[in-house]
Amino acid sequence: MLKEKVAVITGSSRGIGKEIAHLFLQNHAKVVICGSTKENASKTLEDFVSMGFSEADMMAVGMDMRDMDSIQNCIQEIIQMFGRIDVLVNNAGITSSASLLDTSDSDFQNMFDINVFGTVKVTREVVKYMKEIGGSIINTSSMVGINGGRNQASYAASKSAINGLTLSLAKELGGYNIRVNAVAPGVVETDMMRNSVSDQMKEMLIRMTPLARTAKPTDLAGAYLYLASDLSSFTTGAIIKVDGGLVL
Ligand code: NAD
Repeated sequence: MLKEKVAVITGSSRGIGKEIAHLFLQNHAKVVICGSTKENASKTLEDFVSMGFSEADMMAVGMDMRDMDSIQNCIQEIIQMFGRIDVLVNNAGITSSASLLDTSDSDFQNMFDINVFGTVKVTREVVKYMKEIGGSIINTSSMVGINGGRNQASYAASKSAINGLTLSLAKELGGYNIRVNAVAPGVVETDMMRNSVSDQMKEMLIRMTPLARTAKPTDLAGAYLYLASDLSSFTTGAIIKVDGGLVL
C-alpha cells in the first residue's frame, strides 16, 4: 500500500511509533526510524532486520525534538539517503500527570518544547521538500486533547495545540497536495501509559470504555496506514479518534 513511499516517523524507537514503522514496512514503505538517540533508533532497526525486513529499506536517526540543529541535520541526512519524504508521522511525545499547582512554568515549557514546538520544527523542515511532490502529514494527538484530563493540563493543552496545528496546516498546505490529519489515541499499552497511569485508574478507564479494554499499539497503527496511503486521498483536516469509544 505504501510502495515507493518514504515515511519518517518520529518517536519510533518504541511504543506506538515502532508499531507504525512495523506496519509501514509490511506495506513496503521505506521507513526512517527516529529515536531520541541514534542508539535507540539503531536498536529498533536491528529488531526489524531480525524480523526479516531489508536494511536497505530503513534508516535510523537520532532526532532530539528539542534541538533544531539535530532536526535539520536528520532531515538533510534523510533527503541525501532517500531523496524525498512522502509521509511524516509526528509521533514523538511525552506526558505528565500533575495538578496545575504542581506544574511549574518550566514543566509546561518542556511539554510544549517536545510535543508542540518539536512537531512544528520537524514539520517545517519536511514541508520545504514535501511541497514539491505532495504528501501526508499525520500528527499524534490524544483523546485528552479533545476532552481534557484531570491533572493533565500541560499535556492536554499540548495535544489541543496539535489539533489546532492539524486543522490549520490542512488549510494552508492543501494547495501543495499535502494532507494533514491527526490520530487521537485513547489508552494504549506502552511505556508512556505504564509510567503514568495507575492500575486503579486503568481499571476505571476500562470500565468507561465501550470496547472494555485498553489498546495495543497494533490497534492504532491501521489508522496511520490509512492516512499515509492513497486510500485517504481526499481526507485532510481530520482528527480520527481511536479510543475504543471512551469519552472522558
Ligand atoms: P512512548 O513513551 O512509548 O514513546 C514515545 C516516543 O517519543 C519514544 O520513541 C521516545 O524516544 C520519543 N521521544 C520522547 N521525547 C523525545 C525527544 N525529546 N526527542 C525525540 N524523541 C522523543 O509513548 P507512546 O505511548 O508510544 O506515545 C507515542 C505518542 O502517542 C505520543 O505523542 C503520545 O502523547 C501519544 N499518545 C499515547 C497514548 C497512550 O496511552 N500511550 C495516548 C494518547 C496519545
